[in-house]
Amino acid sequence: MPAEWITKPGHEEINSPQRHFTYVNDPGCGFMFDVNQAGEVMFSTELARENYALALREVEAGTMVDHGTVDFTNDVWNPGTIRCGCGQPLNLSGGDTTTCTCGNEYNGCAQLLRPNWREFCRETGELDD
Ligand SMILES: [Zn+2]
Repeated sequence: MPAEWITKPGHEEINSPQRHFTYVNDPGCGFMFDVNQAGEVMFSTELARENYALALREVEAGTMVDHGTVDFTNDVWNPGTIRCGCGQPLNLSGGDTTTCTCGNEYNGCAQLLRPNWREFCRETGELDD
């Protein structure tokens, strides 16, 4: 019997604000930078920092347009959250199986796997790690 779903698997929209720059004569081309809650541009890499400086210079030179912060939404797959047999909420990993801190292991359909399923599958030859 599957575990109780707290959140069923499904598509989820995630807001990701981006500072957006495009070239004046090539509007389909440009740069996007991640923005934090305070509206500040975040740099995950040194290249991103250099590109941001470049974008600002291009805006100054009139060759790029600064669109400011634009809200993009990303459609992501949420594998869902179940209530584990131990009572804790467990976010499914989206991988083959997810193991709770209590040791219970579930498949992507929220079915509790037999604790010895690996051994069982080794015996039957379904799993050969
Ligand atoms: Zn558990």
